[in-house]
Amino acid sequence: MGAKLVWCMKALHARGLITGSGGNASVRLGGGDEILITPSGVYKAELEESDLVRMGLDGKVLDGRWKPSSEWRMHTEIYRKRGDVNAVIHVHSPYTTGLTIAGRNIGPITPEVALILPEIEVLEYVCPGTEDLGRLVGSRIAGKRALILQNHGVVSAGRDLLEAMTAIEVLEEGAITTFVASLMGGAKVIPKEEVELIKRVYKR
Ligand SMILES: [Zn+2]
Repeated sequence: MGAKLVWCMKALHARGLITGSGGNASVRLGGGDEILITPSGVYKAELEESDLVRMGLDGKVLDGRWKPSSEWRMHTEIYRKRGDVNAVIHVHSPYTTGLTIAGRNIGPITPEVALILPEIEVLEYVCPGTEDLGRLVGSRIAGKRALILQNHGVVSAGRDLLEAMTAIEVLEEGAITTFVASLMGGAKVIPKEEVELIKRVYKR
C-alpha cells in the first residue's frame, strides 16, 4: 500500500502535476478508520515508504517520523463522508487550475472527460490546510470523483489509487485540450445526446 502511494507521488511529480513541495495523497488501510498519508515538508520526488504517516480519521497520528500533510483534514473528511473511497489525491495541476482561475469551465470535451467526470464542480477559494477547507470538500464530495478548488488545485477520490489518479489525469488532459482548442478558435463540447450515448456504451 505504501509503495504504491510513493509511486503515485513520483509519477505525479514526473508529469508536472505537482511540485516537490505541493500536493498530497493518502490511502485507507483495510477499509477502516486509519489512513496512510504523505508527510509535510518532504520533497515528493524523493519520498520513501518510511516517510509516510499513519493516522486515524479522528486526526490522531499513530505512526511516522514526520507531520502528516497540512491538508490531512481534507483527506479525513472525504473518507468519513464516503465509505466507498479508499484513496484521495490532491494536486495543483496547472492547466486545470489555470483555466478555472480564468473563469473557464471544462465541459465534456472528449469522451473520456464526459464519461469519467460528467459534472465538474468548482469550489470557492478557502485557505489551504484549514478545517474550513476540509469541511467544504467533505460537504461537496458526495457522488463525485473530483472537485476543483478555486485558485488552488484539484482533489480526487477513488476506490483505489489508480482510480483517483485517473480522475486527476483525465481532468488535466481535458483542461489542456480545452486550452488548445480555445487558442485555435473555441472549445466545442460533445453534444448532450452524444454524451448520453457514450454513457450507455461504456456503462459500468
Ligand atoms: Zn494544495
